[in-house]
Amino acid sequence: NPNKTFEYRIMAYGEDQLLLIIRDVSRVSQLEEMRKDFVANVSHELRTPLTVINGYLEVLSVEDEDKSPFVGKAMMEMETQTKRMQALIEDLLILSRIEASSERIYENTIDMTGMFAQVEMEAKALNKEKRHNISFKIDPDLVIFGVETEMRSACSNLVFNAIHYTPPGGTIKVLWKKRADSAYFAVIDDGDGIDDKHLRRLTERFYRVDKARSRKTGGSGLGLSIVKHVLNHHNSFLNIESKVGKGSEFSFILPPELVYEKNTHS
Ligand code: ADP
Repeated sequence: NPNKTFEYRIMAYGEDQLLLIIRDVSRVSQLEEMRKDFVANVSHELRTPLTVINGYLEVLSVEDEDKSPFVGKAMMEMETQTKRMQALIEDLLILSRIEASSERIYENTIDMTGMFAQVEMEAKALNKEKRHNISFKIDPDLVIFGVETEMRSACSNLVFNAIHYTPPGGTIKVLWKKRADSAYFAVIDDGDGIDDKHLRRLTERFYRVDKARSRKTGGSGLGLSIVKHVLNHHNSFLNIESKVGKGSEFSFILPPELVYEKNTHS
């Protein structure tokens, strides 16, 4: 039945028998699909009114030159908050798209060097205030199979987080290199670090170690959830090592079947 979804489990039963358990999970997966559709639709519908509000706020702040300091301050705050809401909606849409992604990862190769050049440019712009010492060490010959928009989203989220959660003047290293037949990516910072008790839940939607602080950084709380889904789609997973007050390392390994080395294939 094409409308049914089943889950299978095989277990050892006694000495020489196997037990096959088939569970009908159609209802659960149907509800999950409905939830995903709902989130995608709501996000999409919220986009237009927010763009209109933001547009008018921008026009008003330029046109109304005689506004009182209070009105000026209120308008600035409204602009900041609508921008935050827009960023949150964009992240929700990215997440829904990745969750529903049927794009085949083996159909396209990604020029990671070009991608990292862009991420580096954006990171340096974001870093102006914090003045971290950021270094990118990128292997130019390492090309992979995958979905570029997704990979870029994952890598930039990890780099931007390191910038946000490292006190000014910190050191951030971004590495992309070959490791055996796999490809290894890491962002290492000497920032705030994260207590062990949070690590397990960090990639859940909207999970934050310090809610007030994360809000100030302007993050949506969806960044690591996006990373988790992208990596899952690319046969990988996020590895987090961290110590409070010392710093964090967020890394992943892409398996050999996704690695396509420029030199050997040209
Ligand atoms: P946010 O939008 O809050 O940054 P994320 O999903 O990207 O959401 O991250 C979840 C939480 O993980 C953050 O709120 C922060 O507490 C913690 N975190 C993420 N990256 C780092 C890092 N490099 N150093 C310390 N804490 C981090």
